[in-house]
Amino acid sequence: MATYARLGAAAKVPLLGLGTWKSPPGKVAAAVMAAIDAGYRHFDCAYVYQNEKEVGEGIQQKIKEGVVKREDLFVVSKAGEELFPTDGKGMSIPSNTDILHTWEAMEELVDAGLVKAIGISNFNHEQIERILNKPGLKYKPANNQIECHPYLTQEKLIKYCQSKGIAVTAYSPLGSPDRPWAKPEDPSLLDDPKIREIAAKHNKTPAQVLIRFHIQRNVIVIPKSVTPQRIVENFRVFDFELTKEEMATILSFNRNWRACAMSTCKTHKDYPFNAEY
Ligand code: NDP
Repeated sequence: MATYARLGAAAKVPLLGLGTWKSPPGKVAAAVMAAIDAGYRHFDCAYVYQNEKEVGEGIQQKIKEGVVKREDLFVVSKAGEELFPTDGKGMSIPSNTDILHTWEAMEELVDAGLVKAIGISNFNHEQIERILNKPGLKYKPANNQIECHPYLTQEKLIKYCQSKGIAVTAYSPLGSPDRPWAKPEDPSLLDDPKIREIAAKHNKTPAQVLIRFHIQRNVIVIPKSVTPQRIVENFRVFDFELTKEEMATILSFNRNWRACAMSTCKTHKDYPFNAEY
């Protein structure tokens, strides 16, 4: 099983990366260093997470120590102030920025040699079509980063993206238990008895099953942790395989539940989650 996914001709990306949303500045550098020691070479970051500086410090330290080379690392960032205005506290403000205009600005980053590949996040298939059909499109999106886990299996959107040569990254793969808006009555993937049962059969943890699920669909996955032993645990997913039946069982858990429904953006003209996929 390959541990990389291709991003068009331009780049390849490790199937497993470390998420960094909610990773506090005081802890994230150590988490990044622990992850590099554990074998992670892919980091998922964003301007709005307000910790990119510390992520960079962790990476720099490991390069200095000679543990890893810059060219072996794949670092994802997401557009900052120039493209999506924020309120100064790091929260995105729904803007009227046009998707196609924004895409052209991102294409310039490729031409300037500042990034290897450009992608999108939380796009539904209609929005992706708009980009793919844009007159004069220079680069198609290499990747669509979307919420995905057994309660939101995204079969149609993944099939659509993969058919267009767009790699898919699954965010909140563990159900994002530390999301600030979590309610006690919300479903919990890590505590799901059926996930636990499958995990026990393989002598693995529920988190490892939740991560492995994506790898077997050729979907990139970016679990977040700042806990060293979990960072290691989450990377130990290349030494077992879920059976075809187990994959089908896990897919049957879908209930179209979103940990990140972005409800504050519901009235935005480009709110993506009203479409079927
Ligand atoms: P995850 O589903 O990755 O869950 C993270 C939570 O799970 C943390 O509380 C972490 O705790 C805990 N955890 C991690 N590993 C284990 C384990 N082995 N056992 C038990 N608990 C564990 O949630 P995220 O929402 O953070 O999603 C992952 C990443 O995806 C983000 O960090 C971000 O990079 C990206 N993302 C992108 C979005 C987008 O719109 N593009 C939106 C949301 C996320 P602890 O850290 O304390 O160990």
